[in-house]
Amino acid sequence: MPAHPASPGNAETHLFLCLKDNYGVLVHDKATGATAAIDAPEAAPVEAALAATGWQLTDILVTHHHGDHTGGIAELKQRHRCRVVAPRKEAAKIPEPDVAVAEGDSVNVGELAARIIETPGHTLGQINYFFPAAKLLFAGDTLFSIGCGRVIEGTPDVMWQSLLKLRALPDDTRLYCGHEYTAANIRFAVTIEPDNAALAARADEVRRQVAAGLPTIPSLLGEEKRANVFLRADEPAVAAAVGLAGAPPAQVFAEVRARKNRF
Ligand SMILES: [Zn+2]
Repeated sequence: MPAHPASPGNAETHLFLCLKDNYGVLVHDKATGATAAIDAPEAAPVEAALAATGWQLTDILVTHHHGDHTGGIAELKQRHRCRVVAPRKEAAKIPEPDVAVAEGDSVNVGELAARIIETPGHTLGQINYFFPAAKLLFAGDTLFSIGCGRVIEGTPDVMWQSLLKLRALPDDTRLYCGHEYTAANIRFAVTIEPDNAALAARADEVRRQVAAGLPTIPSLLGEEKRANVFLRADEPAVAAAVGLAGAPPAQVFAEVRARKNRF
């Protein structure tokens, strides 16, 4: 897959598939040459991405402890002597962490600064890496394009509060997520919001991307706010669509998530 257009400033990204439907992504600081892998599903595709770009791996930024995000860490660390940054609340479940971070902490990739945002729900310790100057969000398995992660360790209420934290970020933030689930997410979302024009527009775009063999991410957070039903549980139309008009948004979110699980 091709590298994506340059971010503002010195950040460059390179996206690639891992395992069955996981994404790996490299973040590169042109000023210093530092390069981070966001998660490491498996080592070989990360090595191939490094070879394709000519970048040197300096850091692995881990979002959460699941094996399909951490399976390549040990091999990559041994080969590249890179630093492993892990969520503090699940550092014990992650191979060889060097730095453990939590809500509000900063972490740098060279001169590129990221802020840590904790979003419990998919796992209890999941973190996101938000690069405000580069306008990049690496959301792991919390927020997908037109979807969200399964609520495995938290409760729907906790997950909804986590999604609200990401929804508060600027519209021009580019969202990188952990999986290519977008087309399947759209098939579900239109069952809840058949008349959402932003969702229909995104469906057209994804159809073209898939037909061209292109990834559907990154997406713009502003578009997700308009089209992603999991960020819209406080919209009266969404509540009404699931038979919960007037109910608290967390309850609406729980119902939407439950329907997706059965879809
Ligand atoms: Zn996961």
